[in-house]
Amino acid sequence: MTAKITSAPTVIRTIAQMREAIRAYRKEAGAAASVGMVPTMGFLHEGHASLIGKSSQENGLTVLSIFVNPLQFGPNEDFERYPRDEAGDLAVAARAGADLVFLPSVAEMYPIPAATQVTVSGVTERLCGASRPGHFDGVGIVVTKLFNIVQPDRAYFGLKDAQQVAVVERMVADFNQPVAIVPCPIVREADGLAMSSRNVYLSADERREALVISGTLAKAPAWIESGMNASQLTAAVKEGITASPLADIDYVEVLTYPGLQPPASDAALSESESGGRIIVAAAVRFGRTRLIDNILISFPEAHS
Ligand code: AMP
Repeated sequence: MTAKITSAPTVIRTIAQMREAIRAYRKEAGAAASVGMVPTMGFLHEGHASLIGKSSQENGLTVLSIFVNPLQFGPNEDFERYPRDEAGDLAVAARAGADLVFLPSVAEMYPIPAATQVTVSGVTERLCGASRPGHFDGVGIVVTKLFNIVQPDRAYFGLKDAQQVAVVERMVADFNQPVAIVPCPIVREADGLAMSSRNVYLSADERREALVISGTLAKAPAWIESGMNASQLTAAVKEGITASPLADIDYVEVLTYPGLQPPASDAALSESESGGRIIVAAAVRFGRTRLIDNILISFPEAHS
């Protein structure tokens, strides 16, 4: 792969211009064309940059979208105050290797309210699907629209939002959407806090206390090794997080991944899940800020 020279990406605000830019790229690149897409809500940090960087390594053209999608926010959530910084985002986009930045308005994406629903059942029953009703329907609509507008060969999503990865993978499989979903690892601050655009909301006290989430999740593998089953592990993680007086737990759950169902038996996880994967996922409020984090754990096949 040839090295790319960092240059300012082209900013595109309309669907028609986005389609035209992709058409022009595909015509010029011919059979070698490959388009990678990174959907985001902006206020970019190193987590987003890692997705953009991976896409730019693996594709001839990388499209970053920045769109704070009103449909995925509940009525009492933070749509209005969600942080926005277009100039800062364009600097990160350039440094990370984006070629095109799609920055549509709400009116451009939703000239009329969408009458068509995209509801993925099963994997949305728990976690954020349960605590944020309608959230994943909004994600399903916007991701489908973005895929139809850009028609990427690959789309990059962070495992910070592991349930979103499971939802999008299932949607793409069910609808035969011609895009490969590429899950990417969680990028953390040096002290372990998962990077998030919402971290800017945290006060100094909350920022310090929020470390209890990643700190507790990091203990899960050892707890599993000690023989815990799912309910013991859930209790241990809850106890670890409530050690912080500022932590208000929304959920802590131990589920299979990517199916996102409770383990079928009460046996120690290392036995019941052999050959599979589980996720230990938490959503915790610090003041008005709701943070999510998780750890994915793979189990080797048991040998008799
Ligand atoms: P957002 O802008 O929060 O909607 O996130 C856009 C994409 O970046 C999603 O696929 C997220 O999972 C991903 N992302 C956000 N934070 C991180 C992180 N700390 N590490 C890796 N990916 C992330």
